[in-house]
Amino acid sequence: MSSGRKVKVRIAPSPTGDPHVGTAYIALFNYAFAKKHGGSFVLRIEDTDQARAKASSEAQIVDSLKWVGLTWDEGPDIGGDFGPYRQSERSDIYRKHCQMLIDSGKAYRCYCDAERLDLVRKKKREDGLKPMYDRYCRGFTEEEKQEKYGSAARHVVRLAMPLDGVITFHDELRGPICIEAKELDDQVILKSDGFPTYHLANVVDDHLMEISHVIRAEEWISSTPKHKVLYEAFGWQEPAWVHMPLLRNTDKSKISKRKNPVSLDYYKRAGFLPEALLNYLGTMGWSFGEDREVFSLTEMVDNFDIQRVSLGGPVFDLDKLTWMNQGYMHKLGDDAFVGFVRDQIFSPAYLRKLKPIVLERMGRFEEFVDKNDFFFNGALDYSGVKLVPKGRDAVEVKKMLKLLVERLDDLYLWETPNLEGLLKSFQAEVEWKPRDFFMTIRLVVTGRKDSPPLYETMEALGREMTRFRVRNAIKSGHI
Ligand code: GLU
Repeated sequence: MSSGRKVKVRIAPSPTGDPHVGTAYIALFNYAFAKKHGGSFVLRIEDTDQARAKASSEAQIVDSLKWVGLTWDEGPDIGGDFGPYRQSERSDIYRKHCQMLIDSGKAYRCYCDAERLDLVRKKKREDGLKPMYDRYCRGFTEEEKQEKYGSAARHVVRLAMPLDGVITFHDELRGPICIEAKELDDQVILKSDGFPTYHLANVVDDHLMEISHVIRAEEWISSTPKHKVLYEAFGWQEPAWVHMPLLRNTDKSKISKRKNPVSLDYYKRAGFLPEALLNYLGTMGWSFGEDREVFSLTEMVDNFDIQRVSLGGPVFDLDKLTWMNQGYMHKLGDDAFVGFVRDQIFSPAYLRKLKPIVLERMGRFEEFVDKNDFFFNGALDYSGVKLVPKGRDAVEVKKMLKLLVERLDDLYLWETPNLEGLLKSFQAEVEWKPRDFFMTIRLVVTGRKDSPPLYETMEALGREMTRFRVRNAIKSGHI
């Protein structure tokens, strides 16, 4: 696959939550493609959605990608000739490019307010049509609109999409993908707060950063026709497009945290070896050939051919990954084995954190492991543990825990006072008796009644392990 340009690829994660295993997967294929073709690989942070962006998330993405063993040639942490690599620092560039499109008539200002847009959509729905914008503002010149609304009026900028015909782009794995122009709305490219939408920022950056191949997840296929129109509007050469198949849960649904841990932090916390995780991701939809499943990153790069990606939704199976990880564990030398246990399981930082919590319950050091096993375990065994309190039934307990884990997913500052605040207000909200509520949570998180103070315990266990245990308890068969 050649676009006649120097190979340069990128991943462009949005820092809106936990670093996702899917990000590492797409990063791996971009990396392998770049290295195979002597090209370069860029990390760009797409944080234009200010409402959803989280400062801590960018650092987590960088750390976890480094942890799996991937490196990039340009990025927010190391700089490069095409920076800045954080979209929130590129606002002027987007505004300038948006203005270029307005000047050439390829985009237009739209002053319709939310009320009008709702009415338009409602009417379209009633008429059995797609609820799209009726292009009202496209019918006026910019001067006419200035006069009508005044220069300070709130507005967005929309891309003037073709009104008819077919938009076609070529996906390197799927062949031509066509969509009728009339199916597509006049996409907003600049929001009323002056920030670009994903589409504008993504295309402008890919062009300015000289990206030759866009290798991204299948879920972006529906955006690509809009991107193609943007490339044409600017008069730029479009990159080659590759949409990778999505990772799936074992039931073939799109990978989701309800069914599979998806945060890379979980895999680190659970003691997977990064080489094993990367190897496993390399088998997702791609075959090394020679029936080989176990290979290193260098071997993958040497043998890489993106055309060998198959499109039948790769299943991310934790048991299979565990099997692969075990193989890698067996290959560790003595020093590496000791180093891993010492640095990951009994790290000084972790032990220091545990000291004030565990001392209360110990008279001799020999009790340390026995009384504190849950600080070192993964999934707990709940046999013999009564997770359903008297007067409650399993359905209620599961419902409460499912809601709780959603709240915990949103808690990024994982510290005792925040955990205390969250749990207390959640207990009041679900109207459980405090005793029943806190004992159930304690049992879910530690598997035992006689564990140290709950909030401190949850802080020490960490966000990943705590949330994993709540999810795991729900499906453990013991509720
Ligand atoms: N910001 C998008 C994401 O979160 C980037 C998609 C793309 O690669 O174009 O994945």
